[in-house]
Amino acid sequence: MNGRNGVILMSDCLFCRIVDGELPAHTVYEDDHILAFLDINPVSKGHTLVIPKKHVARSDQLGPAETGELFATAGEIAKALVDAFAPDGYNLLQNNGAGAGQEVGHAHVHIIPRYEDDGVKFSFEHGELSEQEAETVVGEISDRL
Ligand code: 5GP
Ligand code: ZN
Repeated sequence: MNGRNGVILMSDCLFCRIVDGELPAHTVYEDDHILAFLDINPVSKGHTLVIPKKHVARSDQLGPAETGELFATAGEIAKALVDAFAPDGYNLLQNNGAGAGQEVGHAHVHIIPRYEDDGVKFSFEHGELSEQEAETVVGEISDRL
């Protein structure tokens, strides 16, 4: 399905329906390729989602220029959020795939301003990295770049 500006949309995708104007959203920024709007269930004041208008499920399905545009725009919006709300910090967060907790299958970047006592928790258990494993892992990645 082609939306405005010939952007490729998927009719059964929630965020494509927002891009197409079929569902409402509180838009904070829009250009030909990118849309940014408030998260409907914000984790904190100013929680914003930045999406490519073109439907891709995960950000690794974008080309390098598209990835650049998405993250450059997220960076500019983060500056605006810092200026507007003077948070104590912010998280740029992305979930790719159900295994990473992605619930809406259209790539998106979360910008989550952080405030003292906001109650937001990210929980990780860190492991250890042996020299041998580090070399193997570096090889597996760098061979593909
Ligand atoms: P995910 O878990 O996929 O990274 O995050 C999806 C985000 O989309 C959640 O934070 C959720 O609150 C938000 N969301 C889900 N449905 C809607 C909607 O219809 N409108 C807006 N603005 N945000 C939504
Ligand atoms: Zn979509």
